[in-house]
Amino acid sequence: MTVTPSYIYLSPPHLGDKERQMIEEALTTNWIAPVGPHVDQFEREISAYVGSPGAAALNSGTAALHLAIKLTGAGPGDRVLCSTLTFAASANPIRYAGAEPVFIDSEPDSWNMSPAALERALHMAKKEGNVPKAVVVVHLYGQCADMEPIMDLCHHYGVPVIEDAAESLGADYKGRASGTIGLMGVYSFNGNKIITTSGGGMLVSADLALVEKARFLAAQARDPAPHYEHSELGFNYRLSNVLAGIGRGQLQVLESRIQARRTVFERYRSALSGIDGIRFAPEAPYGRSTRWLTALTVDAGVTGVSSARIIRASADHNIEARPVWKPMHLQPLYGRCEYVPHGPGDSVSDRLFATGLCLPSGSSLTEDEQQRVIDCIRNTLSGARE
Ligand SMILES: *Cc1c(COP(=O)(O)O)cnc(C)c1O
Repeated sequence: MTVTPSYIYLSPPHLGDKERQMIEEALTTNWIAPVGPHVDQFEREISAYVGSPGAAALNSGTAALHLAIKLTGAGPGDRVLCSTLTFAASANPIRYAGAEPVFIDSEPDSWNMSPAALERALHMAKKEGNVPKAVVVVHLYGQCADMEPIMDLCHHYGVPVIEDAAESLGADYKGRASGTIGLMGVYSFNGNKIITTSGGGMLVSADLALVEKARFLAAQARDPAPHYEHSELGFNYRLSNVLAGIGRGQLQVLESRIQARRTVFERYRSALSGIDGIRFAPEAPYGRSTRWLTALTVDAGVTGVSSARIIRASADHNIEARPVWKPMHLQPLYGRCEYVPHGPGDSVSDRLFATGLCLPSGSSLTEDEQQRVIDCIRNTLSGARE
């Protein structure tokens, strides 16, 4: 009889010691509402952690992005530029607002938005007399995009920047926290993220009027009146007080979660980086990556094995490995949208998608579990060489 080994997830939730106590507190004080002391405290604590003057707690990262895009005034007839190599939730809110996304390729050094492609896109848009209403810059897999040239370009063209920092809470760029460099930044506390509230998000900005407006829109846009008075279209996007309690507990262990994920990455690197044809996503010199997910590319011409084959072999061994995000310009939903590659005729994100994969990277991954992943990859590669 063979014993099936336990399933190793890509990025499972990892609770600390305080979350239970925080939930108890919400229950015993009867603050089971989308307002309450944990919500206020969680906002203050995130503000302090990332060094942003304002923060609004919301019920998902997607909701936070939707409000951020609305707050730039983007609507029907407008364009919004967005990183192509990302999860669909970066781009969908552009459509919720009725605007049209234009997708921008990655550059090879960080896998994030290519400043060269962004420059061509902004230049073309200006020539056509349709300067975008906003740029959504994604910080992929725990690493910041190269924000300095991106901010300079957007400043030059007068376009506000929204940072989708859903995957990069705790990362920094030249000493500044990811999410605090553009006009607005967005974090996610979905179950797969580095810390989680099971579901939740946060919008941060140094512009307190924007944060206040986000809170107003997120709570059904109730005008100040004793009856229910509405002059704007609102949403039900606030984070519940119970979940904010979980977030407060999780925030206390964020730093140790970052260290754990970076350690996971280092173990993969020391075990696998000597293999020809394997390349780990580089850590750009301008800041700390959290290594939320360990990502790498496999050159099948050298290894004899595709990334897809490694993913299948992993699944056979109860290991969840995944391809790199499928770029938005390749999605059926967005196939008709404009796309600006890194160089004319040179799409970096297409290559990353074709050759890339993400390995189990949870902060609770044990060394034995990680060894199983490493052995599985090594065996798959050496099988190809026989
Ligand atoms: C997870 C994620 C989101 C969405 O966050 P939710 O809280 O799940 O709505 C947005 N963008 C990126 C890049 C993400 O990884």
